[in-house]
Amino acid sequence: MANKLIAGNWKMNGGLAANAALLQDVLAGLKSPACDVAVCVPAAYLAQVQGLVASGATAHLIALGAQDVSQHEAGAYTGETSAAMLKDFGVRYCLVGHSERRQYHGETDAIVAAKAQRALAAGIRPVVCVGETLAEREGGQTEEVVRRQLAAAIHVNGHCISEIVVAYEPVWAIGTGKTATPEQAQAVHAMLRAQLNAASASAARVKILYGGSMNAANAVSLLAQPDINGGLIGGASLKASDFLSIIAAAA
Ligand code: PEP
Repeated sequence: MANKLIAGNWKMNGGLAANAALLQDVLAGLKSPACDVAVCVPAAYLAQVQGLVASGATAHLIALGAQDVSQHEAGAYTGETSAAMLKDFGVRYCLVGHSERRQYHGETDAIVAAKAQRALAAGIRPVVCVGETLAEREGGQTEEVVRRQLAAAIHVNGHCISEIVVAYEPVWAIGTGKTATPEQAQAVHAMLRAQLNAASASAARVKILYGGSMNAANAVSLLAQPDINGGLIGGASLKASDFLSIIAAAA
């Protein structure tokens, strides 16, 4: 497996001044990271962040990411952003199926798979998010749920499955301060890895990130697991020193 990937998910946070300050601090501490780094920013700030990090001398240090993409190509879909529009701003990664989109916007597995397909067609790597709720974990359904979520993306995108990234994010761990133990996370990652391998020989290249309250303190043990190929970082990506510590842990 090549470099690990550490991707920040800013969610609906930030502002022009705060973004500039955060990225200035991250860039100052980044030097030449031994892992891939991306920031998935609100759509409103894609142009700003493209200018700050994704062009010129820093372009190789931080890749620009988006948090969502429309399942449609173009047209009468007010408020949506197409994959081609993201591409215009140099977006290289796009989250699809984040649990907050599934929960608050009713995104189904089929919609998530279609979004991944749009991203891939535009040359953007979709980060397909999967994860079980607390009730599903307690009901012994973790494997069934995450397998079903990934299977939908594989079904629609099997021909270019090696171009996706998968993020395992247990819903009960997102923004709660409760992290899956390294053993819990590794068990799910191993299962996802086996599912990918069974789908395509080229899927060995697919990175499987862990997300859910990853922070400077727990990153080392999570990232040391054999099937954890990086992290999707929410809250801790908003503080430069925490984000930099996680990046260092992935080296
Ligand atoms: C996320 O939003 O993808 C996430 C992992 O959030 P947090 O790190 O805050 O749990």
